[in-house]
Formats: sequence, structure tokens, C-alpha cells
Amino acid sequence: MFEIGIKDLLDIFLVAVILFSCYKLMKQSRSVNIFYGLIVFISFWIIISKVVEMKLLGSILDQLVSVGVIAIIVLFQEEIRHFFFSLGTHERANRIIKFFRPKKDIEDGEVFRHSRAQVSPIVLACLNMAKQKVGALIVMQNDLPLGDFVRTGERIDALVSQRLIENIFFKNSPLHDGALIINGDRLVAASCILPVSHDLDIPKDFGLRHRAAKGLSKETDALAIVVSEETGRISVAYDNDFKARVSAEELERILMKGKI
Ligand code: ATP
Ligand code: MG
Repeated sequence: MFEIGIKDLLDIFLVAVILFSCYKLMKQSRSVNIFYGLIVFISFWIIISKVVEMKLLGSILDQLVSVGVIAIIVLFQEEIRHFFFSLGTHERANRIIKFFRPKKDIEDGEVFRHSRAQVSPIVLACLNMAKQKVGALIVMQNDLPLGDFVRTGERIDALVSQRLIENIFFKNSPLHDGALIINGDRLVAASCILPVSHDLDIPKDFGLRHRAAKGLSKETDALAIVVSEETGRISVAYDNDFKARVSAEELERILMKGKI
């Protein structure tokens, strides 16, 4: 006789929630087929080994399942990394870091991370590049360090200046490819490679530069500015959100706040 208590219901509910979360996570990446494969395999194993109790096949499958955890870690290495990264990045880590951060500038009752003087060379450079249809990808670091991305490019460590930024993105300059990373009033590195977003809801006419801006904003708390060489439009990405076609005033305000 089966007896189903409240504990069993809770057990079933928790397993369902975990399975659904895994499915959602897998669906965002390209590994959803592996997930289906695993579900088929586990169902097959339960039927063979627990329901009809076939001894030989059951014991072979039992052996496979016992090494399954390691296989899953290998198969889903990227997803597991991303899961822990985002767990640490967005909610908890942000709150902890903010708690220790010094107070920011306050103007008109609004909290600003940077002063107008600090951001104006960046805004002017973006406007100039937009006018001349020079492509650019600029990252403004916030609380989280961007060392992993800085390492992929060329270290600069210079004071922010409009002409230097324009020079970096000037067509055919050795450093124009990739992203420029700015931290406060320093240009940290250029030619950096950013993670490309695989989101399907990004408009088709946005290429890799726009996807890289969105990808970085998903993984870190940084703000990314894109100047399109095709359209001369300026867009910004923050917290996996994308704002296309920002005006000069909007851009200045966003850069001062450090977020959209
Ligand atoms: P645009 O509107 O300026 O053409 P786009 O979104 O269409 O932008 P692409 O034309 O695909 O972008 O790429 C243009 C440039 O973007 C590349 O030459 C390169 O400098 C930069 N880029 C592409 N992918 C990355 C990346 N992952 N990290 C940093 N920079 C990148
Ligand atoms: Mg393009």
C-alpha cells in the first residue's frame, strides 16, 4: 500500500521545481537537447532498474548513473560556471560591495557615480565618432573588477581624454578592434574581448559589437556603450538590458549614474 504524506508531496514539489529551473537554465543556452537526453536516460534507468528490475541491464545502468554526476559536471561546465557567476555577481555580491563603498556624489537629490567633468570627454568622443560613423565599444567599470576582460586586451593605464579615445577607435589603428575598458578617470585597456550574448531577442541588424555589449552587461555590473559604424547610432547596455539610440543628454546622464 502506498501512503503519501505531506513530506512526499513536498519532496515531489521540490524535485519538480529543481527540474524546471534546470530546464529553464538549459533553454537559455544551447544545451536543452542534452537535458532532454538526460531525462530520457533517467526514465529508462528507473524503469529497467527499479520498476521491472532487470538484473543485468539494471546493474550496467546503475554503474553508469554512479559516474553520472561527474559526466554532468563535464557536460554542463559552462552552465554551472555561469550559474555560480551570476549568483555571485548580481544579487549578493553587489549588495555586499555596495555596503563597503564610499558615498557617491549627490546632485539634485539623485545619486551619481561620476561627475559631469569626468564623463564629458567620453560623451564628446562618442558623439564625434557617431558623426563620423566610427565604430566603438566602451565599457565603464562599476563595482565589479573586470580583470578577466582587461587581460584579453592591451593595457593602457592613461588618463581619460577625448582625443585618446577617438584615436583608439580610429579606423585601422592597431587597437580599434574590441572594447575599451574605463575605470573612473583611467583608460585601463583597449582591444579587449567581451563575452557575446546569445539572446535571440536582440534585433537581427545588431551584430557582434552590440551582442558583446549586452553579453558583458549580463555577466557583470558594468555599463557598455556602443557606437555603430553602420548607422552612427549610440546604444548602451546595462544589467542585460539594452537601450538603443540614446541622445547626447541621455548618454551623459547614464554615464554619470553608471547605469541605465
Ligand atoms: P556596427 O553597427 O558598428 O557594425 P555590429 O554590432 O554590427 O556593430 P560587427 O559589425 O559584427 O558589430 O562587429 C564590429 C566590431 O565589433 C568588430 O570589428 C570588433 O571590433 C567588435 N567586436 C565584435 N565582437 C566583439 C567581442 N566579442 N568583444 C569585443 N569586441 C567585439
Ligand atoms: Mg556590423
